[in-house]
Amino acid sequence: MRINKSDGSHDMRISASDVPKAVIEVCARLKSLGHSAYVVGGAVRDTLSGRESIDWDVTTSATPEQVRAAFDHTIPTGARHGTVTVILDDSKIEVTTMRAEGDYVDGRRPYSVCFIRDIEADLARRDFTINAMAYDPIDDRLVDPFGGSADLQSRIVRAVGNPEDRFREDHLRMLRAVRFASVLGFKVDPATLDAITRCSTLIKRVSAERIRDELDKLMESTKPSVGIELMRITGLLEHILPELLEGYGVEQNRYHEYTIYEHNLRTADEVSGDTALRLAGLLHDVGKARVKQGEHFYGHERVGGQIARQVLSRLKYPRRVVDRVAHLVEQHMFRYEPKWTDAAVRRFVKRVGVEHLNDIFELRRADREGSNREPDAGLGELRRRVNEILSTGAFLTLRDLAIDGNDVEALIGPDVPRRVIGLTLAQLLDEVIEDPSLNDREKLMKRAKDVVAYHIDELQHL
Ligand code: ATP
Ligand code: MG
Repeated sequence: MRINKSDGSHDMRISASDVPKAVIEVCARLKSLGHSAYVVGGAVRDTLSGRESIDWDVTTSATPEQVRAAFDHTIPTGARHGTVTVILDDSKIEVTTMRAEGDYVDGRRPYSVCFIRDIEADLARRDFTINAMAYDPIDDRLVDPFGGSADLQSRIVRAVGNPEDRFREDHLRMLRAVRFASVLGFKVDPATLDAITRCSTLIKRVSAERIRDELDKLMESTKPSVGIELMRITGLLEHILPELLEGYGVEQNRYHEYTIYEHNLRTADEVSGDTALRLAGLLHDVGKARVKQGEHFYGHERVGGQIARQVLSRLKYPRRVVDRVAHLVEQHMFRYEPKWTDAAVRRFVKRVGVEHLNDIFELRRADREGSNREPDAGLGELRRRVNEILSTGAFLTLRDLAIDGNDVEALIGPDVPRRVIGLTLAQLLDEVIEDPSLNDREKLMKRAKDVVAYHIDELQHL
């Protein structure tokens, strides 16, 4: 199926040869049983625009029971929504019965779903024209009732039907519009953009989990800043991530040509890494506006870490993501100088944590780039010194200490809180990081006695 080009730019086509064999087989089987079957949604959009698609969704007139009967291996994935997963040659294909949705009672989920046999009605309930196309690979027929391929060609995200109605039905669609525009590098159609602006406060009613999932996908854009800016312009940002707006229009000092807000966005664009690392880029200077005193931002990384923790907890990010991002924000302000001793480098490694070193260096590189300044040579030198320490085993962790918890336990009486053991080992580790020659069993046992006594004394004074 070939689409006529309007401006001769991209030759958009989809043919059966683009569709994975297992998907063709599913469609062929359903059609041989007298049902209709189409690939639909994201896969059609991505294939037409020359992108590779991973998820191939099929929509059919067959009921979920008929789909289950037609294949040997199926899983009833979303019975309520009529989705059955068909397992064929190691692929999992989601097959959904065509549907038209009833009224949305609360702007979050359809009140009733009734299965229908009409592909155009199924496409009409989809969010954007570029997502509302279906392709029948057996008959080589593209169904595109809303001009999706033309919008794909012109790189436009446009709501199907009346945009305001569509956003009132399902408020998350506003964020999806922004996300698609950002990820695909498209413009949002003006009427669609206006409708988002008018409806933006409704986003407050959407669950944090659904917002988080969209935000995650947005962070995979080449430039997430495009999406964040669209969120700001439409008013969505104020409800989702108002903390970023605190730095909007706030100038910094002679080292920074950008405002706090702009610099956070540029850093996010610059960071290469997973979603969490990009979020760390986006939030790394989020604390600056609150601590600003003239040209100074003392302690912004600590405040920023707290804000990052609040923001990501509110958005229901998993604990490990919250901890990781907050830690990176807190640690991003180290200032390396060549005069650092090896012990200082070891302290740096301990403070940041071996598992976060790659992240912190990438964040700092992006931070610099996000201020439009040339790379920091000191950063490269610190990296070399850190690598040296790691590769020669000169960096020590609790496990490398010449004594362990049992040794310390033997030094203390039964009435002493067990906490003293951990405190003692932590302090001995600090001392050994300072001077590795202390990591000797005899020396440490001797030193441990004093340290234990000190901590017991401390506890008694609490
Ligand atoms: P991606 O998987 O890259 O996020 P996608 O287009 O496949 O893109 P999905 O969320 O997987 O997006 O949804 C599949 C299809 O279902 C969409 O292409 C769209 O047709 C429809 N759809 C998904 N969410 C909505 C929604 N909130 N409102 C209307 N239609 C939707
Ligand atoms: Mg998908």
